[in-house]
Amino acid sequence: MGKLYYQEYRCPHDNKLLFKGVLVDSEIQIKCRHCKNLIKIQGIDKEEMVCKKISCPNRV
Ligand SMILES: [Zn+2]
Repeated sequence: MGKLYYQEYRCPHDNKLLFKGVLVDSEIQIKCRHCKNLIKIQGIDKEEMVCKKISCPNRV
């Protein structure tokens, strides 16, 4: 995987870090371990998928 651009996803209720990762055009649900709220997270649009890093091998 090498140098991937991970984004931090945080709970909107208590700002705890839920996970780090890259979501593209997807949607997940995750339960916050701290406040037990079910958080719905939507991935970024495909348009924004184009990696901003010049050296990224996933760059289209
Ligand atoms: Zn929370």
